[in-house]
Amino acid sequence: MRRGRRPKWMIDIANERMDILFSLAKKEFSDNPDRSHRYVSYARKISKKYNTKIPSKWRRSYCKNCYKFLNPSQNSSIRLCDGEVNIKCYECNHRMKIPYKKEKKLKRRAKIESYIIKKRNNE
Ligand SMILES: [Zn+2]
Repeated sequence: MRRGRRPKWMIDIANERMDILFSLAKKEFSDNPDRSHRYVSYARKISKKYNTKIPSKWRRSYCKNCYKFLNPSQNSSIRLCDGEVNIKCYECNHRMKIPYKKEKKLKRRAKIESYIIKKRNNE
């Protein structure tokens, strides 16, 4: 397969597959944690092969260091700490920090912009 961007239909299929894999990983986690870790590695392989990102819904469900599936309260903890979401992986003790101030700011900006567009359309 050639490198570079994939056609949209291929990306759609890849996203669907990753979604299925992560849902399975979530379902299997309590009985079979090893199986869920394997599903995450399959999903990562798909994301690399098709040059797509892991769906944002699942981006926080795996460890960025050891790539194991993280289920809050079972093998990870999520804490809010000065404008950051701290996700701690109990498998390798890696701590991921995701700032959410930027997200808040972007949301606010989008709201203002949509308001301006609406206003402009009314005039
Ligand atoms: Zn980890």
